[in-house]
Amino acid sequence: MSSSIHSPDQTSSESSNLKEGICPSKSERRNAEMILCHHCNSIILRVGDSIWMEGNERDIPLARQRKGGDLTQTEKLQGWWTVKDMFTFENVGFTNSVDGIRYLTCADCDFGPIGRVTEDNLHIVAHSRVKMESVPSPTNS
Ligand SMILES: [Zn+2]
Repeated sequence: MSSSIHSPDQTSSESSNLKEGICPSKSERRNAEMILCHHCNSIILRVGDSIWMEGNERDIPLARQRKGGDLTQTEKLQGWWTVKDMFTFENVGFTNSVDGIRYLTCADCDFGPIGRVTEDNLHIVAHSRVKMESVPSPTNS
């Protein structure tokens, strides 16, 4: 499965000149959709709770480790939803620290890691490990 990273915003084509330079310090971009667990649809972050960070490639362990290897298999991910305060999360789990790094998982189904805690105590969620949903699905069973 090749994970292509879609640009999360689908800007409506109201203005044709969307050529403003990338200026992360000034115009921070927040998530316009809810961020959900891929597996169980648990809400991880609500709209506007996290700030987009482009790039910043990091190694994250694979969600499913293949057999036959001592080393933790990782993949390089980039593109993150960042959260400063862990209490901002609607639902999130933390792993025990591995080599000083704590990873984020789904609090409900333990899927993960979906992200990690950085050296600056920033919580970063990998865009390719979560699901975006614009409207909360009314599944009241
Ligand atoms: Zn889950």
